Amino acid sequence: FIAERYPGTARSRLVVLAGPTAVGKGTVAAYIRDHYPEVHLSVSATTRKPRPGEQHEVNYYFVTDDEFDGLIEGDRLLEHATVHNAYRYGTPREPIERALAAGDSALLEIDIQGARQVREAMPEATLVFLLPPSWDELVRRLVGRGTEDEEERERRLRTAKVELAAADEFDHRVVNDDVARAAQEVVDLMKIHGD
Ligand code: 5GP
Repeated sequence: FIAERYPGTARSRLVVLAGPTAVGKGTVAAYIRDHYPEVHLSVSATTRKPRPGEQHEVNYYFVTDDEFDGLIEGDRLLEHATVHNAYRYGTPREPIERALAAGDSALLEIDIQGARQVREAMPEATLVFLLPPSWDELVRRLVGRGTEDEEERERRLRTAKVELAAADEFDHRVVNDDVARAAQEVVDLMKIHGD
């Protein structure tokens, strides 16, 4: 389907990186953004508020609930989901289509529900599941980053247990033992199938 719409583009120029909370998806995606400028990193829209240091249009498009509704109604999102029962997140469709049409690789760092939707919308996408080296390490990372309170941490860890069971649905599993190494493995997946 992609190949028909965008001649010259191949499977897995579109890679979706998903995984449980605190596994380091954002860190791996940021590493790829900073070290592999040829890869287009999708900037999501979200209804959550910016955290200190986060920039509009760099980390996210921070939008209101009404604006998010408008994006859905205008069919401007490739996928969207409510994550951790709180805020809404979605992938703007147009920048991805533009990157693929230009022959570039695109990377989406999204949650597992979103990854499943991309699989439906674009079956050519390669789905990558980022795994922690161990369960204990995942707990340590979540506690260590200190961005959630105890109750929220408990909630995310319950979700993470369920989410880890989804790893087998994905095309590839990458262990995030080292950010640079994991990033390289994800980028290599684009190269193997691209061109
Ligand atoms: P955070 O609020 O910590 O930046 O992200 C929370 C979760 O939302 C992460 O699991 C992240 O992968 C997910 N997320 C970020 N952007 C999107 C998106 O566009 N779509 C979906 N489905 N999930 C997203």
